[in-house]
Amino acid sequence: RLVPEDISTLLSMTLPLKLRGFQTWSTFCEAVGNMVNNTLLPPDGKGVLVALRPVPGIRVEQALTLCRPNRVGDIVTIGDNRLLMFLSFCRVNDLDTALNHIFPLPTADIFSNRMVWFEDNQIAAELVLLREVGPDKWGAPLTGTSDEKKIINAEHDGQTWRRIPEPLRLLSEDRGSAS
Ligand code: C2E
Ligand code: C2E
Repeated sequence: RLVPEDISTLLSMTLPLKLRGFQTWSTFCEAVGNMVNNTLLPPDGKGVLVALRPVPGIRVEQALTLCRPNRVGDIVTIGDNRLLMFLSFCRVNDLDTALNHIFPLPTADIFSNRMVWFEDNQIAAELVLLREVGPDKWGAPLTGTSDEKKIINAEHDGQTWRRIPEPLRLLSEDRGSAS
């Protein structure tokens, strides 16, 4: 029989399913840990953990500004000069599809190296290493760019990336018209 404590434990185990986008390194590790340890979820079908290292000249904080997860349950963190993403319930064969939804540019233009884990024991083993990375190596979003300020003014509408139109007045009111 479930008592309230069990329910809150169950709910906390589903943590990443309520999160989206950037998380601190420790929250990210906790959320992914909850996922892989959740026996209610399908074995080896919880999602894909991916680590991306930016091409030389792009800082991981800058790469983060291009990373726009749309689906709840898709979480990201940065640290140790890598961008880490966990894509809940994404199948490994669909990883490129998901990444194309999440980044407005081809990921090969932004990242030179990709590592992928998708089986429970692979993810759990990588998590052990991730948890050893000290706070001095954790990254944070560039200030002021966390959500609103976008490098590329575009949004994924579920099908494709679309520019967001901005209203533009061609003649300002006080100039009047050339009558
Ligand atoms: P969500 O899962 O948090 O996804 C939010 C938005 O991310 C979606 O908005 C869509 O623009 C994009 N997105 C997420 N996953 C995919 C995907 O696999 N393919 C594509 N092309 N786009 C994706 P949208 O479409 O307005 O959906 C809003 C919410 O409705 C979704 O939130 C989800 O909770 C639900 N939903 C919509 N379609 C489906 C579906 O086919 N299956 C499931 N399980 N839920 C769906
Ligand atoms: P899936 O989750 O089984 O979704 C299969 C198809 O259902 C998607 O094909 C899409 O056409 C539709 N669909 C699912 N969820 C949504 C939604 O929220 N909104 C809309 N508009 N459509 C939805 P698609 O887009 O080719 O994606 C194929 C597979 O790629 C997905 O299978 C999923 O495994 C993965 N994927 C794609 N985008 C995302 C994403 O943003 N996040 C994650 N975690 N996985 C994704």
